[in-house]
Amino acid sequence: MSTSTSYEFQRKVEAYAAADMVVIGGGPAGTAAAISASRRGKKVILLERSGQLGGMGTLGNVSIFMPIGNVTGIYREMIAEVLSEYLPEQHDVSIAPQYSPFQLRHYLNEKMKKEKVHVCYHTEFVGTVKEGRRLKAIIASTREGLRAFEAEQFIDCTGDARVAMDAGVPYTSGREEDGLTQPMTLMFMMQNTGKPVTPMLPEGCYYYEQVSDLPQGRRLYWERNKEGTLLVNMTRVKGNGAKIEDVNFAETEALRQVFSIVNYLQRNGFETYVLSHVAGQVGVRETNQIQGLYTLTEQDVVEGRRFEDVVAQTNYEIDIHSPDGKKTTDERKVDGYDIPYRCMVPDELDNLLVAGRSISATHVAMSSMRVQATCYALGQAAGIAAALALEERSKIRDISIGELHAELRKQDVVFQGGRQTQPG
Ligand SMILES: Cc1cc2nc3c(=O)[nH]c(=O)nc-3n(C[C@H](O)[C@H](O)[C@H](O)COP(=O)(O)OP(=O)(O)OC[C@H]3O[C@@H](n4cnc5c(N)ncnc54)[C@H](O)[C@@H]3O)c2cc1C
Repeated sequence: MSTSTSYEFQRKVEAYAAADMVVIGGGPAGTAAAISASRRGKKVILLERSGQLGGMGTLGNVSIFMPIGNVTGIYREMIAEVLSEYLPEQHDVSIAPQYSPFQLRHYLNEKMKKEKVHVCYHTEFVGTVKEGRRLKAIIASTREGLRAFEAEQFIDCTGDARVAMDAGVPYTSGREEDGLTQPMTLMFMMQNTGKPVTPMLPEGCYYYEQVSDLPQGRRLYWERNKEGTLLVNMTRVKGNGAKIEDVNFAETEALRQVFSIVNYLQRNGFETYVLSHVAGQVGVRETNQIQGLYTLTEQDVVEGRRFEDVVAQTNYEIDIHSPDGKKTTDERKVDGYDIPYRCMVPDELDNLLVAGRSISATHVAMSSMRVQATCYALGQAAGIAAALALEERSKIRDISIGELHAELRKQDVVFQGGRQTQPG
């Protein structure tokens, strides 16, 4: 649905606030970026379009951290503070803790206060104001209307590379051959009532007979027996979560699938469970990737490549939910690799970084680097890098990697294999 008409849209927009840094998007990458920059003494404003921080982890109720082969930095701190029973002694181990999305939401609110990050909720980025190769301000839709936010440095953590795209940074979407992205999933939870329940099936929903009828052709959930909760990742809707009509379709179709799957589970193993929570929005795995100074590839992931400008490490598998409507998932183990700083740096601007799932990566590489713990790591590095660019009065691409590693170390990030370089 699109017409051929276009409009010029000009407004004088009042500046609402100025800071050293504006971080856009309060998911894993954005919250970590805001914290790390603030710890380096910078005045940080974090803009989030919803009423909660945590991104897909809370908004989409993706409330389990996939294992990445390390527990380090801000991610480690969060585990220590919210999920201490899972905290490993070493930094180089894998954990996959499930958490309460409600508790994480509260924790992040309080954490931002402690870290002196100013959060603006219900503030949605709409456009950039550029001066040559620099961003001067961004315009956001707030509860008081359009407002400008000025800063020296900007970090795009929207997951969709929304800021970068608006500023003219080239990007790609989905598979290289046809642009198809991983499908969307509406997460939900069920609760054990301890007594038999009557399965319900609202109008318009589906009656699934067997596993092969299910949207993913499999049962995928995590049980917490002590609390009697079940976190379910079983819906699947084809489409690109950054496209209006695809999301329009996904929101209604995925909810139909939720009720249908609940009905199936209530007949097949979860006879005492009721639907207890449905995420407020469909979960979006993949949309846009910037084309940065370096693009992470499948080969890097598979061959376990290491980089001098490493900012995050992971051994999370290649994990591609079929983009073309099939019920398959391409899962391939990987041994571990580095993500270089350059994947977050757009060529076109001197004061913008992109952190989180929309960094420069191919479709396959993105399927491995996209999980939450890695996005927290990327955000933490991005916040420090932007702070350094301010201090060094340098272009974001020219910051000292030695200083970046030194500050990461100070902030308790440990890389495996002695990869941290010294300042110099
Ligand atoms: C269904 C599903 C299942 C998954 N399963 C797992 C799993 O089991 N374990 C795991 O670790 N990871 C999982 N992932 C991946 C992981 O959740 C995401 O890749 C990760 O959250 C990405 O972090 P991010 O910070 O880049 O972006 P996001 O989490 O997407 O956060 C982006 C934030 O930016 C905000 N935002 C967006 N646009 C704007 C704007 N214009 N203005 C202001 N704010 C904006 C959003 O509201 C959001 O808060 C899953 C993802 C999905 C969708």
